Amino acid sequence: MNIKKVQKDIDSCRFCFMCRHICSMARVTGSEVVNPRSRGLMLSYVLRGTIPYSADLEDTVYKCCMCGCCADWCEGDWNPPAYVQEARFDMVERELAPAHITALRDALLKNGMIADPGEPVLASVENSDAKALLYKGAYPDAQIERYFTQAAALMDRAGIQYAYVAGAPSGFAQLYRLGYRQDAQRVARQVLDLAKAKGVRTIATLSALDAYILDLLADEIGCKNDFSIVPVVKMLMDAVEDGSIKVNAKDLSVTYHDSDIMARYLAMTDKPRSVLSRLGASLTEMEWHGSRARTTGGLLLAAMYPAESAALVARRAAEASETGAQALVTGDIEDALLLTGKTGQETLTLIDVIGRAAL
Ligand code: SF4
Ligand code: SF4
Repeated sequence: MNIKKVQKDIDSCRFCFMCRHICSMARVTGSEVVNPRSRGLMLSYVLRGTIPYSADLEDTVYKCCMCGCCADWCEGDWNPPAYVQEARFDMVERELAPAHITALRDALLKNGMIADPGEPVLASVENSDAKALLYKGAYPDAQIERYFTQAAALMDRAGIQYAYVAGAPSGFAQLYRLGYRQDAQRVARQVLDLAKAKGVRTIATLSALDAYILDLLADEIGCKNDFSIVPVVKMLMDAVEDGSIKVNAKDLSVTYHDSDIMARYLAMTDKPRSVLSRLGASLTEMEWHGSRARTTGGLLLAAMYPAESAALVARRAAEASETGAQALVTGDIEDALLLTGKTGQETLTLIDVIGRAAL
């Protein structure tokens, strides 16, 4: 049973209410079943053989957006998303994943993404001098073309030679999070093999989630030390900081939304603010920001539980709107996609803001 590895976390949460009011899914559902205490209690019963794994555990195991707000709040450093993830592996191994989750897996295996991939728009970039593979991930070309094109132009400006492979395998991050570890490892291996075939050791991902999960899977596969896997937005922020991308500061009043992955999984909260300041942006913070930022739930939750996703996005959009800032900026394309048009403000990624200021 995979959850045995995280028994201490499970047993620490089962009688604790200290992050109940922080849990994103508990707050938008009003349900006592989905907070970390209830998840811990139910999984502690499973660990002790009091109840078996069953389809009845869907809310405990799947109705979590893995935002990490609970783990960030926890004084004991316990980690509910870690045991939710292990419980998903267990459910999948026992063929107990709900039908709507297996349908998502089928879509990911068929198309490399959950959404309809649509017509390809982005062409491969061959480059025998490439030092990095620019990786688009599990998003339809038409949905992310603007972000991808801007990121590619800025890599050129920073002097980072890159290659891009249209139609590269994708979906490992979503498969992993849904509990399909073997599928995720297989797709990740294909991506890493592609990087090897291109002769590069750096993989620059458009999505922060892809960077985090691909690094984790590279470790599971046993080739973590062969690659540097980073969100492309980090490379571009580095390039602004070290002067490889020269900028002309432009006045802009912004509020900054920290995504789950960038803030709580990759601990990247100061750097975006420092770069925004260099770019001339004046920042008005939302009440919940930095590592305490409220989540949108991400695109995977939107596919798993649309109503809960919409409630999380609306909650975060209202917070952004209340700041009165001209623009909402985020480092994460998933959150940009979710928040665009919801706040009454212009929604920009950090890549957009760097692109506007680049000389
Ligand atoms: S994560 Fe920490 S604060 Fe939350 S229930 Fe578990 S032990 Fe308590
Ligand atoms: S990761 Fe988020 S949704 Fe899941 S239990 Fe923790 S706070 Fe709740």
